Amino acid sequence: MSQDCIFCKIVSGEIPSKKIFENESILAFEDVNPVAPVHTLVVPKKHYDNILDISSSEAGLADLNQLMAALPKVAEELGVEESGFRLINNCGEEGGQTVMHIHFHLIGGRNLGPGLI
Ligand code: AMP
Ligand code: ZN
Repeated sequence: MSQDCIFCKIVSGEIPSKKIFENESILAFEDVNPVAPVHTLVVPKKHYDNILDISSSEAGLADLNQLMAALPKVAEELGVEESGFRLINNCGEEGGQTVMHIHFHLIGGRNLGPGLI
C-alpha cells in the first residue's frame, strides 16, 4: 500500500469502485470516466508505479503474469472476449499516466477502429 495512492485505496476498499473481477493478486474495476461502453481498469493489488517498475523485479513480473492470466476472465465478464477490445497502458508524463499505480485500460463495447492515438 502506497500512501495517498488512489488505486491502493480502491484495492483496500477505502474508496468504492464497481468491481468487475477480483482474485488474490488482481482487481478489475470500472473507470469513473469511461471513453467507451466498456472501460475497465485492471490493476495488480500490490503497488507498482508503472510498467517499468513492475517489470524490474521477478516478483513484479510474477504479478504482471497474474494480471495477464486474469485478462480472459475479465474479458469474459465484460462480454468482449468475442467482439474484441483494446488494452492500453500509459507510462509516465508524456505517456499520459495520471494515476501512478500501474493499470491497464480495457476498452471496448463499440468498434474502436484502427487508430492508436
Ligand atoms: P491514466 O491516465 O492512464 O493514468 O488513467 C487513469 C484513469 O483512472 C483515468 O481513466 C480515470 O478516469 C481513472 N480514475 C481516476 N480515479 C478513479 C476512480 N476513483 N475510480 C475509477 N477510475 C478512476
Ligand atoms: Zn497504489
